[in-house]
Amino acid sequence: MTLHDAHNHLHDEWLLPHLNRIAADLADAVIAGAVVNGTTPDDWPAVSALATRFAWVIPSYGVHPWDCGNRPADWLDRLEARLAAEPRAHVGEIGLDRWILDRAKPDDPRLAGLRRAPLDEQTEVFTAQLALAAQDNRAASIHCIDAWGALLETLRTAPLPARGLLLHAYAGPEEMIGPFADLGAYFSFNGSYLDPKRARLRETFRAVPPDRLLIETDAPAMPLPAAAEKFSLPPSPTGTRMNHPANLAAVYRGLAAFLGQPLESLVMRVEANFQRLFTD
Ligand SMILES: [Zn+2]
Repeated sequence: MTLHDAHNHLHDEWLLPHLNRIAADLADAVIAGAVVNGTTPDDWPAVSALATRFAWVIPSYGVHPWDCGNRPADWLDRLEARLAAEPRAHVGEIGLDRWILDRAKPDDPRLAGLRRAPLDEQTEVFTAQLALAAQDNRAASIHCIDAWGALLETLRTAPLPARGLLLHAYAGPEEMIGPFADLGAYFSFNGSYLDPKRARLRETFRAVPPDRLLIETDAPAMPLPAAAEKFSLPPSPTGTRMNHPANLAAVYRGLAAFLGQPLESLVMRVEANFQRLFTD
């Protein structure tokens, strides 16, 4: 049984001290593919280094909406150069986030030191990156929080990659799944949705077309509920719980149980979807 993680940040500096152990745990879990997403030009070299070291790492490069406000002036040239040098690479993590503007606490440690770019600035940076993805037919991995209408509107008017795009950790309304799927979207189920308190997010996934379903960890972010977690890591330097990427197997088991499907058929389904979007 081989597993595929549609979205993580294995290059994260918080995982670095544990990387050898994590890689061994992932090998035991029989990881066959993982899309590792850079979020700012500063972390792209670390993603690239992992793709050189591990054959199962698929690199993806982008400027995340949280990093949009602090992007360097030459970010787009650097992205174009990086993509030109790496034909297998995809585009992401990119997207739109209204939560950082409207709901995030001023002292949220995850946003420390970041200028929170207004939505029109985020949209400009997002569409420039979508255009690069469309031009070379690279998959776009998209983050969206509290901006579902704006995202749909943007995707409806932008050129999109023919191979499709990923709405990672999909948390939008069930009724928008159809319109997004019509635009080529895949939807990845995140392990944190196994939390009993996140029933609404879990239920939404019953409406995802089977040929558009993917599974992700977003590690080191979005930990599973402690009861479902098989692998743990020490807390991050800021004291938050960290998600070990090898918890991917537990996410598969949890989703299969929730959907009432045999694990083997979910594994095969996700493998076919992952390959269609990211490797074919
Ligand atoms: Zn992410």
